[in-house]
Amino acid sequence: MSDPNYTTDDAGIPVPSDEHSLTVGPDGPILLNDAYLIEKMAAFNRERVPERQPHAKGGGAFGTFEVTHDVSAYTRADVFQPGKKTELLARFSTVAGERGSPDTWRDPRGFALKFYTEQGNFDMVGNNTPVFFVRDPMKFQDFIRSQKRRADNNLRDHDMQWDFWTLSPESAHQVTWLMGDRGIPRTWRHMNGYSSHTYLWYNAAGERFWVKYHFKTDQGIEFFTQDEGDQMASMDTDYHTRDLWEAIDGGNFPTWTLHMQIMPFDDAKTYRYNPFDLTKVWPHGDYPLIEVGKMTLNRNPADYHTEIEQSAFEPSNAVPGTGPSPDKMLLGRWFSYPDAHRYRIGVNYKELPVNSAHATTVRSYSKDGAMRHHNPGDPVYVPNSKGGPHADPSVSGPPVGWHTDGEMVRTAYTLRAEDDDWSQAGTMVREVLDDAARDRLVDNIVGHLLNGVTPPVLNRAFEYWRNVDKGLGDRIEAGVQAKQNELDPKAEKQGNPARSTAQDKA
Ligand code: NDP
Repeated sequence: MSDPNYTTDDAGIPVPSDEHSLTVGPDGPILLNDAYLIEKMAAFNRERVPERQPHAKGGGAFGTFEVTHDVSAYTRADVFQPGKKTELLARFSTVAGERGSPDTWRDPRGFALKFYTEQGNFDMVGNNTPVFFVRDPMKFQDFIRSQKRRADNNLRDHDMQWDFWTLSPESAHQVTWLMGDRGIPRTWRHMNGYSSHTYLWYNAAGERFWVKYHFKTDQGIEFFTQDEGDQMASMDTDYHTRDLWEAIDGGNFPTWTLHMQIMPFDDAKTYRYNPFDLTKVWPHGDYPLIEVGKMTLNRNPADYHTEIEQSAFEPSNAVPGTGPSPDKMLLGRWFSYPDAHRYRIGVNYKELPVNSAHATTVRSYSKDGAMRHHNPGDPVYVPNSKGGPHADPSVSGPPVGWHTDGEMVRTAYTLRAEDDDWSQAGTMVREVLDDAARDRLVDNIVGHLLNGVTPPVLNRAFEYWRNVDKGLGDRIEAGVQAKQNELDPKAEKQGNPARSTAQDKA
């Protein structure tokens, strides 16, 4: 072999041709003993792992997190100790679309982080919104199906989406957010990331706190209007993926500043909102943001498949000093995420370099299983007297994360003084948005409803928005009617209040 850069098969054996199959004469049939051709075809057929369900379309990059402010009074987690700098991976994504879907569709964005800490990998699997559509994991599967595709024609269907939302009033806060400006971020660099969930932190003395993570973009919040998002979806399906890649490639490293909301443990018992309800925020006035440090993304992946597609984030990667709260959705995800990875990538997904602990040594008793490439060796059991690792009770944290008792029930959270499904959404509409943002919110909702939402769902949607804010709901109903009358003036004369484009077509 004169050229040392010769092609081999997957066993390292030199191959005689990159271009020609083995045949009986130049015009004869292909031979089954062309093992290299068969390996190429077979490997190609197996190139894809199942896409994520949901959050299939995404991109990401590596970087660092550096602590700038001392929060050791609240957590003993190594990654948050003063001056600490930790390597990390970030993955951003849309939720409902498939792997090839446009980056600029209106949708929440995933904001998943993996910190390679000296206490093992710590993941924060958040979104670009501080709340969520449902508060019980029993409804999550139905929610996602309602956002994806119908069974019969395999099309996405706004009627199905609004049917679910209007029958699930707890969705109002998140849907208000989604229909507003932040529902289409200009780029991933121009959006915040939130843990959304409440988590537990505890310090070296075992004192406990409830916390929420807020990663605020240092690039500033920027968004696309619906028209801009639609145009970009047809011009460049991968606009957000490209933007992040090109920014980092050009040395323009995006940064986010981490702030925490920190609630003393006992406040949770009497707080005016249930602090574990994922459809609610903690108003900043009650729990102000406390600065912690800075996240910088500065390295593009070298290989998308092995570093981003096969990356696996899970809230249950919780290092000492952190833990779960009684948020029912969080506890559902605690099980569901690792389960999804075992199905999608395989039982040994944590052995892949992107998912493995870089800053510490793994000394678990897991062994064997499909694609295992390294076993711990003997002893394969614990307890043992053969020098194997043994657990360290000092990392177990406080004796309980929270105290609870009662009968086994299937019921919603106990309501607190100000808990209801509409008021925080109403506060956003009335007090956070300005007139121009409110106008865009109305336009976005009207446009969405006109795209195939039919009675009785349409009438329920008007009521839904009136519950958020009476004036907003009235404007939305008037906007839908005006547009329908424009499309079909006869409907106005006949006083048909809720025709739909789907009905018109029928
Ligand atoms: P504040 O006035 O202190 O905070 C309002 C927050 O709303 C801002 O800090 C900003 O969050 C966010 N915001 C601004 N413009 C938009 C927009 N177009 N779409 C979505 N969010 C926007 O009020 P409170 O903390 O008392 O909360 C009032 C309402 O604000 C809540 O009911 C909730 O709907 C919304 N909100 C509250 C957040 C919280 O954690 N307290 C976070 C985000 C929204 P940011 O600073 O994170 O960019």
